[in-house]
Amino acid sequence: MLRLHNRPRLLEGAYRRSRRILRPFRRWMVPGSKVEIVFVAVERMLKGFIFDCRMCGQCVLHSAGMTCPMNCPKEMRNGPCGGVGADGSCEIVPDMECEWLRAWERSREMRFYGDEILHAQAPLNHRLQGSSAWINDFVGVAGKTPDGWGE
Ligand code: SF4
Repeated sequence: MLRLHNRPRLLEGAYRRSRRILRPFRRWMVPGSKVEIVFVAVERMLKGFIFDCRMCGQCVLHSAGMTCPMNCPKEMRNGPCGGVGADGSCEIVPDMECEWLRAWERSREMRFYGDEILHAQAPLNHRLQGSSAWINDFVGVAGKTPDGWGE
């Protein structure tokens, strides 16, 4: 994985710029369209390279210190769990640092979205697995919480 991973402020800036650039094209962002095929290929390659993205389709990178929570062995969307070691290690994979600990540390370096880590994330919608997180975000599917959640 690229060392870029440890540059949350830089990545946050790239996210903000990408969002601004893509916004005018959102009318062509249709789930299941050929445009989505292109988005999925690009996301898989770029985000896979930089963040070890697992293509959950509901990207919360900017709400988790530009750290992909799907790399947590428990795939926790709201972390950390109660099993973090005193040295910051993961209880499932002890030679790995807790992904959420990293997320918290990186979020403190961010300028615009750092405090979003304090917001509770909705449970994963597994139907979005493998789809474009950008398109899901722009069409409003990604942020939709299941009925009755959070009440
Ligand atoms: S949160 Fe989902 S879309 Fe974003 S990098 Fe992680 S697996 Fe990929």
